[in-house]
Amino acid sequence: MRILIVEDNKVSSKIMERILSAYGECITADNGDDALKIINNSLDNSNYFDLIFLDIMIPNGDGKMVLSSIRTLEKKRQCETIARIIMTSSLDDSKTIIDAFSEKCDAYLVKPISKDDILAELKKLDFI
Ligand SMILES: [Mg+2]
Repeated sequence: MRILIVEDNKVSSKIMERILSAYGECITADNGDDALKIINNSLDNSNYFDLIFLDIMIPNGDGKMVLSSIRTLEKKRQCETIARIIMTSSLDDSKTIIDAFSEKCDAYLVKPISKDDILAELKKLDFI
């Protein structure tokens, strides 16, 4: 599977990449603009991401904006593959979490995120 990791903390990004590379090809982005560019390219080439980890607090546009942009693009282009999107954040207030689900994320992980947290989500989403 193809996995996109959007995370501006380099250490966290590396750790996630190390864990997730056992399950698929990982691409990383550290800001909102780059994430959307990568996603647009993947849609242009029908080289869809199956799974996206999306940090909420990132430079050049936040994760919520990226999430709603992805869902709008998928709808507009009538994509056959809809990415499963896992939000990641240290924000754990209910409004932020409810907002993320209303923008159609699939899961929400509160930081710090362990390997077990990631593997549990992969299982829940039927990737492993
Ligand atoms: Mg961040």
